[in-house]
Amino acid sequence: MRIVLVGPPGAGKGTQAAYLAKNLDIPHISTGDLFRANISQGTALGVEAQSYMKAGQLVPDSVTIGMAQDRMEQSDAVNGFLLDGFPRNLAQAEALDEILKEGGVQLDAVLDLEVPEDEVVKRIAGRRICRNDSSHVFHAIYNAPAAEGVCDVCGGELYQREDDSEETVRKRLEVYHTETEPIIDYYRAQGLVVTISALGKVDEVTAKAMDALKK
Ligand code: ADP
Repeated sequence: MRIVLVGPPGAGKGTQAAYLAKNLDIPHISTGDLFRANISQGTALGVEAQSYMKAGQLVPDSVTIGMAQDRMEQSDAVNGFLLDGFPRNLAQAEALDEILKEGGVQLDAVLDLEVPEDEVVKRIAGRRICRNDSSHVFHAIYNAPAAEGVCDVCGGELYQREDDSEETVRKRLEVYHTETEPIIDYYRAQGLVVTISALGKVDEVTAKAMDALKK
């Protein structure tokens, strides 16, 4: 299966993607995670991406599309993948179409996670992520770890993402509305979009998502 996950920052894309990828036995490809890995390794790509991310802006397509394509062409992705955070604008959606066409394959679905804006801001302000695995996500209030700053799953260090400050979150939401939302209409015209509410418990949302994808 080839799936694109869309939704505003804080919708729970990373959390859901990890579960769905496991259930569907396909790799979870997150451009945000790829950028963060490049930043922590100090690569040239990471250096370029960091200033855009910190400001809540999109990393230029010239960098992003090649990075996403390289990842999609790795051997574990031949039978499918779950894209999280890519495409994020129309130019990237068109580039993805080209990449799929070259490979003679198609998208099966675009899963749209819907969540109200005030909920997004609450979720992101308290979000804490494990340094070992970005799918180990906690919340300072709603889903606090047993020991502050320590991941319940693996004992890793929890941190707040540099772009999770209130000011940057507002910018990311604005970018989502202007740049990313138009791709939902683009895919709707192709009959690919399934929308579900991302409110509720993590496993409830996963169950809804699996149901929607089966149809
Ligand atoms: P979220 O979905 O919570 O906003 P991500 O981890 O997906 O977080 O992305 C974080 C940041 O990484 C984005 O705000 C952007 O700067 C950059 N980024 C991720 N994916 C892309 C992309 N496809 N195109 C451009 N920039 C991207």
